[in-house]
Amino acid sequence: MLQEHNPIYLDCNATTAVLPQVAAAVNQAMTQNYGNPSSSHITGIQAKDLMTRVRQKAKQAIAAEQGNIIFTSGATEGIQTAIFSALVHAKQQLVAGQEYCLLYGATEHKAVPNSLAHWNQILDINAKIIEIPVNNKGLLDLDFIASHAPKALLVCTMAVNNETGVYQNLKAIYDSLGGSNKSALWMVDCVQGLGKIQLDMTTMGIDYAPFSGHKLYAPKGIGFVYVAQHAPFTAFIAGGGQESGLRSGTENMPGLAALEVVFDALLGHNNLFVKEQQLYDFRQQLVETLQSVFPTMVINHDLAYSVATTINFSVKGFTSKEIMDLFDAANIRVSSGSACSSKVTRSFVLDAMGLESWQSESAIRLSFGPGNNQQDIDLACKRIKQAARALQSSCRLLSENSINQAVAADGLYLLNHENACCWIYVDKASKQMVVIDPLKPLSQRIENFARCQQLQVIAILDTHGHGDHQSARDELTHLLSSKQQCDHLGWPQSPQSADTDMIMIGEKPLQRIATPGHTHDSHCYLLQCGPHQSFAFVGDTILMGGLGRTNFDCSSSNMMYQSLQKLLPLLSQDTVLCCSHDYNNEFCSSLPIELARNSLLRQVSNQQIDVTQFIETKKQLDNQLEDQVGQTIVCGTIAGCDNAQVKHVGAEQLDQLSSDTIILDIREPHEYHLGQPIKNSINMPLSQLVNYIASHNEDRHRPHILICRSGTRSAVAASALVKFGFDNVAHFNGGYALN
Ligand code: PLP
Repeated sequence: MLQEHNPIYLDCNATTAVLPQVAAAVNQAMTQNYGNPSSSHITGIQAKDLMTRVRQKAKQAIAAEQGNIIFTSGATEGIQTAIFSALVHAKQQLVAGQEYCLLYGATEHKAVPNSLAHWNQILDINAKIIEIPVNNKGLLDLDFIASHAPKALLVCTMAVNNETGVYQNLKAIYDSLGGSNKSALWMVDCVQGLGKIQLDMTTMGIDYAPFSGHKLYAPKGIGFVYVAQHAPFTAFIAGGGQESGLRSGTENMPGLAALEVVFDALLGHNNLFVKEQQLYDFRQQLVETLQSVFPTMVINHDLAYSVATTINFSVKGFTSKEIMDLFDAANIRVSSGSACSSKVTRSFVLDAMGLESWQSESAIRLSFGPGNNQQDIDLACKRIKQAARALQSSCRLLSENSINQAVAADGLYLLNHENACCWIYVDKASKQMVVIDPLKPLSQRIENFARCQQLQVIAILDTHGHGDHQSARDELTHLLSSKQQCDHLGWPQSPQSADTDMIMIGEKPLQRIATPGHTHDSHCYLLQCGPHQSFAFVGDTILMGGLGRTNFDCSSSNMMYQSLQKLLPLLSQDTVLCCSHDYNNEFCSSLPIELARNSLLRQVSNQQIDVTQFIETKKQLDNQLEDQVGQTIVCGTIAGCDNAQVKHVGAEQLDQLSSDTIILDIREPHEYHLGQPIKNSINMPLSQLVNYIASHNEDRHRPHILICRSGTRSAVAASALVKFGFDNVAHFNGGYALN
């Protein structure tokens, strides 16, 4: 086991631990009171009694004097049961030629719209499925509901949102639906409401309400659905007639035993849950701690409209993934507010609320529950502070401490945003730096880095005027650079030497080469760091596995041909090619790698192609590019991802490693310092991997083992090493999480 124990679990909206008292009841139901409630012997009668008791307590807990409680496998089944019942009933009432709709809240759990679409199609109802918009507080548009309600067969809303904790005014929704005259059926997903708000099924006029046990300390696989007395019902699971024929299948008795303890807690029959006011105090303490350590943090919802147990926040300058990695290393489990879409992680809930894009991309959900106590929250706050201190020492957060504690930067750094690359070179001896292709979303990070490391910024350069993203050059130049004159790509107008195409970073020359083609203003920059170490910042002229596109208005394939003829002889076998994009997680390349896989480049290099043939081939490649990528701007032809095969190892192999093995811990420095890294490992974050590749030529035949949090970063880094000729590379599959 490489990872630490006793995590602070603050992801209760995803699921909860089973409380020891609940587990004891489950155990009892499995080993002693294990009867089948359909059996007529004493053991069966005892099981049936448990079921009757739990149903009664469920009714009390949600104030459902009338109507049915049907035990299910969880809320997703409850949602199916409700939607299926409502739509089977609706089908029988449909009037030909009339238009119908199914309404659901824009921030609903995906189980709802997906089930609506599924049953609408399967049952051939063909109602229009319409999303109810929410305002910037996440509250449903009541006028919209009122105007659509007359045509609605079913309206699905939620009591409490799982990402933000925002609760809806159920009484107001009921009134918008027509109150006691409402015609549409109404399902309220109460999964995140149980134990967080007062629920009252009868007076709220709800027809269906699904619930889930695992969100409130019961095990996964048990839940229940409330069905109002007069609401239409069709059994979703038929069979042996259990649950009075409403849901067949032998009942999950251990699950019911768990629910009993939870209901007892809700009804105040035991003291497992803290009082509501205590939960608000916990939230206050957590919010204050977060605000004190992350000055750029914002809370993504109005706390006045949210249950006490959820805090959804974003920290400017950090992606959700970065905060997740940090918190995981600090042994705090939170969740990114969302799922991963094709490009970046963003939250559809925050998008529906109309929050700024960065908030959605950076969202973190911290959620706790009534089973937490003061000690848990104190420990969480302590660890959040530790995490922030670690960020300061890695210069990601700026403070007095960070300036004094930072490990001196040295060499090349790669910072990415989506697939675009920004390069920073630091000359440790002179404390000078150059930035190439700064990206807007990274500007705060670059500024913090320069200030915390107390570096003198010699130049902030663009390789060309970027068409697909905004450069942060102007902004950063204003913040960091001396007032020297420079041209529109940032090249100083009054250079230190007579050579106007050369500037010095410490004692290292940085040469500018005009390489028009991709755009008329494209330039490459060549940095000579030693006899066998050089970096070529080739912008979008050469991409990994391709060449920059030349079909913009400001492009010229003719000029690209000339530019390549000028550039290629300046690159040595050892020159590391640093491109402006990394579409396939390759980090960097070299001329031998590119010549081996890029036939057009090879032909130019070998003089096997003339300019006319180049232009024709390039045109074909650029046309294919449009076909490949559709709407997104890709800046050039790129190779298919051909990640090298990398060996997997596990913790048990650590003892058998040869003494010359290099263990690289691929996590960020703050993660590395928070956790307990493997003994003798070297911290080599992804941002410095290219530097490692360039400066460890002599180690290419030594065994390397890479590790990170979950095995994703180590896998891509290992592939990059293999591509560069490191011939004995393995990584920990599953990272610290599984080893
Ligand atoms: N509805 C909401 C609001 C939820 O948060 C969840 C779980 O994440 C579900 C429905 C689905 O619940 P279950 O996991 O019990 O199927």
